[in-house]
This record gives sequence, structure tokens and C-alpha cells, in this order.
Amino acid sequence: MAPHANETSSNNNGHDATPQPQQPHRPSQRASAKGGPKILPPGCSEENFTSFLDAARKLVEDDNVFLIELDHNLIDGDYMQPCKGHDMHAIVDREYFVASATVSPRDVPEVQELMRLCNKHEIPVWPFSIGRNTGYGGAAPRVPGSVCMDLGKHMNKVLDVNVEGAYALVEPGVTFFDLHEYLEERNLREKVWLDVPDLGGGSIIGNAVERGVGYTPYGDHWMMHCGMEVVLPNGDLIRTGMGALPDPTVSKDPNLRPDQQPGNRCWQLFNYGFGPYNDGIFTQSSLGIVVKMGIWLMPNPGGYQAYMITLPRDEDLHAAMDIIRPLRMQMVLQNVPTLRHILLDAAVYGNKKSYSSSDKPLTDEELDEIAKKLDLGRWNFYGAVYGPEPIRNVLLSVIKQSFLSIPGARFWLPEDRKEPNSVLHTRSNTLQGIPSVDELKWVDWLPNGAHLFFSPITKISGDDAMLQYSVTKKRCVEAGLDFIGTFVVGMREMHHIVCIVFNREDHESKKKAHWLIRTLIQDCAEHGWGEYRTHLALMDQIAKTYNFNDNAQMKLNERIKDALDPKGVLAPGKNGIWPKGYDKEAWAIPSE
Ligand code: ADP
Repeated sequence: MAPHANETSSNNNGHDATPQPQQPHRPSQRASAKGGPKILPPGCSEENFTSFLDAARKLVEDDNVFLIELDHNLIDGDYMQPCKGHDMHAIVDREYFVASATVSPRDVPEVQELMRLCNKHEIPVWPFSIGRNTGYGGAAPRVPGSVCMDLGKHMNKVLDVNVEGAYALVEPGVTFFDLHEYLEERNLREKVWLDVPDLGGGSIIGNAVERGVGYTPYGDHWMMHCGMEVVLPNGDLIRTGMGALPDPTVSKDPNLRPDQQPGNRCWQLFNYGFGPYNDGIFTQSSLGIVVKMGIWLMPNPGGYQAYMITLPRDEDLHAAMDIIRPLRMQMVLQNVPTLRHILLDAAVYGNKKSYSSSDKPLTDEELDEIAKKLDLGRWNFYGAVYGPEPIRNVLLSVIKQSFLSIPGARFWLPEDRKEPNSVLHTRSNTLQGIPSVDELKWVDWLPNGAHLFFSPITKISGDDAMLQYSVTKKRCVEAGLDFIGTFVVGMREMHHIVCIVFNREDHESKKKAHWLIRTLIQDCAEHGWGEYRTHLALMDQIAKTYNFNDNAQMKLNERIKDALDPKGVLAPGKNGIWPKGYDKEAWAIPSE
């Protein structure tokens, strides 16, 4: 069933009480006549939409406008060939989060002009770089009928790799695979490494602006970005940080368009420039379209060693966390390590059926058996040390000594693992910035596997981790699903990533997954835990949990949104922030 509006409620957002010329937009799922889109943007007439599309076609040419027609079969595709107008891992009715059309600009002036057109026609637009965004909504827009802007189709150049400064400047369509290949082809990995997330097919810009993570010492991608070029909702173009300062020593060519002008020599070296630091407002936001971004690369450390430590008992999580905290804060653990539940690794090696005929959540005894069969622990810690051999040896000896104080803990190097597709071998690549798609396999734990991520933040502490694990696992079991998760250890906190796998062809399975994530959000808020990122369907619910002092932060976000985007055309509803022209209560996604 598609989420639907309660057509009788009419309250506006609680923004400033300026009179609204029209009724606020509410969901209507209005299809157009044959030949039109499956879903029209809210409040948009067929004539207005046609006139927008004609103008867009003139601007970017016919091949770069794709209409999602009334009778279009929403084909999910797969990770390598993702769909570009809906969510392939749909958690609500797959016909709900669907775009009206996808438009692919070829350069920055076309992005600017498209924003002006969207304002003129009051059409919501949802930008994405690649549109994989797996587990968080893919390429789908929050508001059905929005026009998706596919930035990555054409704007996909590595503009610069500077070895001396150890950074790259990229366009939206550059994936982790692309930049890795670029470095390999030019033998630049001898000098600089890229940090990559679990799957390499996402964009560097999309991942950084969503505040995604990787696993080398440069794993916090947002921390490692430096300098952006952004198109604002009204079509204006800005550069942030040192990019705002022209550099006459680099170029004085008066014929270059602003977006073609070389940046200041320090644009990718110093993030803050002068005055308020703007970059943060362009993350998880609906305030700008990032068309260029700098990302720091890690100087090749001159040596590297990945390792795994297996911990035999479920309750070893507690001791492990209290060992990890000081080591991570002192940077003895130099990278972003992970402590993975047995089923995350087991799911990479095979689907549920290959271990058990049960369709219930696996019991402790069954999990012990799987761990034994795979020669793994109930928890498995993956890390790496970086630098010349003497440094690595010292670090490794401290790490080993600390973890091996846990009875039964075992230490492994990649060469100790002989099984095909060894997770440690994959992690050994990932932890040195070599991208892959091996981790996709765990999504097939269930037939027609699809997934959602539930990702609360927690302290690096035995007590907190155990409590969060037991709260989340209990609800997974109640939903009839297996707990599959990992703790991703940042510099002071952890992203606890619970992988909710469901069968996308089974309505009951989707319902359970949806119930589970909604319940987990509520449970976690009651413990003071909040999520760092989420799927389209859960954005409003999570935004409401960040409600200190009568929602003061949301009020600020709404004021900024309305000031920068008065017509509310750029990504309305993203991360729970609704423009004044939308009735936000009516847009909330109901639970079934
Ligand atoms: P991926 O790179 O994993 O394929 P997407 O390209 O789908 O991910 O990006 C994920 C989300 O990040 C998008 O839904 C959008 O909200 C935001 N986003 C991605 N690229 C940009 C961009 N260039 N400018 C602004 N927001 C972006």
C-alpha cells in the first residue's frame, strides 16, 4: 500500500505566518494522462510539466531527458546497473518514491539553468551523483513526481590529482572505482591512496555529502573533503573556503566561465577560508548541488598490514569495546576498524539456506555452530597497521597484547585464511583503499534480498555497545529477522550499522523490516541514541527525535531552507526539512 495523505488536514509547517498564496503541497500521487509521467510533481498541471520538459529538452538535448511514463515498468536493475528514478530496495510500495523524469545536465551552466527552470515552473528536483545510495533510497526522490537530476552521467571527470598536496578534485560522477583506476593507470598509488567504503560503485561526492565512511585512517570522508563548488537553489554558483578567493597567479583568462576558472592554490589545502564555514550546510541537505569537491588522499604510508582478531563469545563485545576505545583515541588503531557480528561475515560466505533450514531468527547455538564451521568468532575485528615495518611491528604487538587478554581470542593475518572469497582478504583490500563489490553478497542472505541500514551512533564503551546490541537484537528477533550488524569505530564514537535484510518480493517481509526500523528509531531515541543517516522513508521520524529545546535546530534549518530556496524546489523533505509550501505532517510516511 502506498503511503497516502489525510486530505482533511491543512496546517502549514509552523514556519513564519506569512500568507500562503496557495494551499500547501500535499501528497496526491497524481498520474497524468497517457504520454505523461507516471506521477506528476505535486501541485503541477500537465501543461506546466510539459512546458518544463520542453525547456529542459532544449537545454540538455532529448537524449538527456528520460520521462518515467504512466505505463513504465519500474525495473530495479542491480548494483552495477542501478535504476535511476525509483528505489530498487523499496521498503514501501515501489510505486511511491518515483520520479516523474530524470534529466542529465552536461556541465555546470546547465545545472544552473535547470535550477532556474525548476524555480520558474515550481518543480521539485532531486539531485544525485550516481544514484546507488544503497540501503538509503537509491536514486529515488523524497517527493514522488520530483524530477531527478542525474549529475554523474556526464559530469564525471577527475579534474586534478595533486600528488605533492595529496588531494584530488572531482566531479559528481567520479566513483571510488574511477578514482582508483585513475591512480592505478598513472602509477600514482605509489604516492597516494584513496579511502573507499565497503562498495566501490558510489560517488565520492555523494558519499562525502551524506557523511559516509571508509576504513583507512582517512575513513571520515566528510572530514577529509576540502573545498566545494556548489550551485545554489536559485542557480547561483559559489566556491567555498579558499575557493572564494581568486588567485591571479594561477590564471587570468577573462574568457573562462566561473566554473572553468582554476581554483585558488589553497582551495584543496585549507577548508575554512574566511568568515562562517559554509560547507556543512551542503551535507545531508537541500541547500545546494555540489558540482566539484576536493578530497584528501593519504600519502602512501610505505607499508601496510591487515589483520583480523576473532572473539569466541557473544559477550566478548563488552571487553573488546573497552580495549578499542583507548587504542583508537591514541591512534594505536590508526584506521577505522570494524567489529563485525558473525552473521555479517557468514552472509558474505553463503545465504541463510546454506546454514539452516529454519526460517526463524537463528539461535545462539546455531550461531556458535556457524562460527565453528567458518572458523570465525561470534565477533570478528578487522583492522590494519600502516607505516614502515618497525612502526607496524610495535603497533601490532600492542594491539595483539591488548586483544589477546580476552580468553579464546585469536589473531589472523590474510595468509592464514585459505577459504575462497575470504572476508579478511576483501577487508585487506578495502583497508588499503582498493575498492570492490564483494560485500554485496550479504544482501542475498534472504531470497530476493534487499536491505535497509539502521545506523545509530554510540559511545565506544562496553556498557553502551552491549546495551545497544541487546536493544537492537531483541527487536530483530521480534520482527522474525536475524541480527546482522557491525560497529564501525570512528575517532570518538561508533556508527553501529544494523543491516536489515528483507525479501523485496514478499510483502510481509517488507512490512516486518519497516516495522523493525521504525521501532528501533523509537527505542534508540528513548536511550538517547540517534542515527547518522537514513532511508527516505524514515527521514521525518528521525528528524523529529533531534528535538532539543522545542525543535530549535529544525526551526533554524527551516528558516535557512526558506531563505535560500523560497519556492522550495530543491529536494523538499530531504532529512525531514520541508519548505514552507509543503504541509509536512501530510507528507510523513505512515507505518502500515
Ligand atoms: P551514490 O554516490 O552512493 O550512488 P547518490 O549519488 O545517490 O549516492 O547520492 C546520495 C544522496 O546524496 C542523494 O540522494 C542526494 O541527496 C545527495 N547527493 C548526491 N550527490 C549530490 C550532489 N552532487 N549535490 C548535492 N547532493 C547530492
